[in-house]
Amino acid sequence: MSFELVIKSAKIATSSGTREGNLLVKDGRIAAVAAAGVDTAGIVAREVVDASGLYALPGMVDLHVHIGEPGKEDKEDATTGTKAAAAGGVTTITVMPNCVPPVNSRTGVLARADLFKSKSYVDFALLGGAGGESLDHIVEQAEAGVVGYKSYVGSYREDRRGLLCQGNGDIYDVLRKVSSTDRFIGYHCEDSAVIRRRTRELLDAGRVDFTAYHESRPEFTEVLATLPLMEIAGATGARLYLVHISCARIVELAEIWRNGGADITIETCPHYLIFTDEDTARLGPYAEVAPPLRPAYEVEALWEALARGGIDVIATDHAPGTPDEKAKGMKNIFEGGGGLPELEVAWPLMLDQVNQGRTSLEDLAFLMAENPARVAGIYPQKGSLEPGSDADIVLVDLHAPHVMSEKSMYTKNQDSARIFDGMKVTGRVEKVFQRGRLISERGRVVMDRPTGAQWVRPV
Ligand SMILES: [Zn+2]
Repeated sequence: MSFELVIKSAKIATSSGTREGNLLVKDGRIAAVAAAGVDTAGIVAREVVDASGLYALPGMVDLHVHIGEPGKEDKEDATTGTKAAAAGGVTTITVMPNCVPPVNSRTGVLARADLFKSKSYVDFALLGGAGGESLDHIVEQAEAGVVGYKSYVGSYREDRRGLLCQGNGDIYDVLRKVSSTDRFIGYHCEDSAVIRRRTRELLDAGRVDFTAYHESRPEFTEVLATLPLMEIAGATGARLYLVHISCARIVELAEIWRNGGADITIETCPHYLIFTDEDTARLGPYAEVAPPLRPAYEVEALWEALARGGIDVIATDHAPGTPDEKAKGMKNIFEGGGGLPELEVAWPLMLDQVNQGRTSLEDLAFLMAENPARVAGIYPQKGSLEPGSDADIVLVDLHAPHVMSEKSMYTKNQDSARIFDGMKVTGRVEKVFQRGRLISERGRVVMDRPTGAQWVRPV
């Protein structure tokens, strides 16, 4: 039998364990997984990759990616953002709807799909926008092919038109509508009413320094925002997805609603597991995320929650900020903006945590690939290394020392990666394959131009 690609002698890591073997790829899919010791002499392949000493994992399925195009190309455009994904071993990105104009209707979904089909370097899925003002457009976005929705409880911005819930009435209406689609809905969880008051008090006291940022958004403001969401999700049967959770208390509380039958999924990001409020005190806008980085004890508690199985997904919340936003934040932290560009560093950051004994490759395969694909309804096409799945594969050297460098990144705003710059980790992505084709090698994209990224929709 002949194949396009054979990856030989890899240690294949999935949620069910790690075994040495060969991955055989045909028509862009995994055709077979041959155990080590099986005679491969008779196999004909166009390309053979010797992966001795390397681990093969499913490519990351990232449920939380901000790419500004259209409308916010100064932060990240479809070319720079998806090249970053290809370089980093993120083979399926799920693109957030808060571009300008935001995606909040069927026509918006189809236009965004066309944009990414022509420009993306990796396969992509789309999130729709849901809010009190887009109720009549929720179902049509599912029919058009979104894997889920994003919604905000907070203040209006141009990129949140149709994505906002004003109070519990809106949340109730939105969750009822979403529950009829069987898609998940992600919410940003921070109580803006309390945060506004605290920010006002700090500003009145002349506080614009870096630490004032976390003082304005303490843990309880995040916990508070999740409570009505969890209760209303339980009452409506909607699939609630709590994005970028930084507090272990939310994981504990979610247990109560989950035990009562609510469908709640919890996401966290590498930065909440690795950095602390001391990094924000040091780097200000270059370590400014919302919710903010937490004290070390909270990071510890989050790892414990992860070890107990209370966290379901690791996503990047990739969101570079512009030099202008960072410069403003240096003067007044409340005027800073943007987040962290994490597509190119998520694997090395987490591989390093495996080396530190905090987690395992099997858990990463589950949290970064398999389970997000399940949440999005695109498993086992994505997130799996079983026969029949798309051959989206990352080969990693778990033991290679690696120094992260912002200058080598594809993200449009390299400067906003300052927190990672010069950071020494152990663990490196060696090769990335999309549907059996090599797309990057050691952080360098090997394609001259995008060649037919696929729009991934729930089956
Ligand atoms: Zn986000």
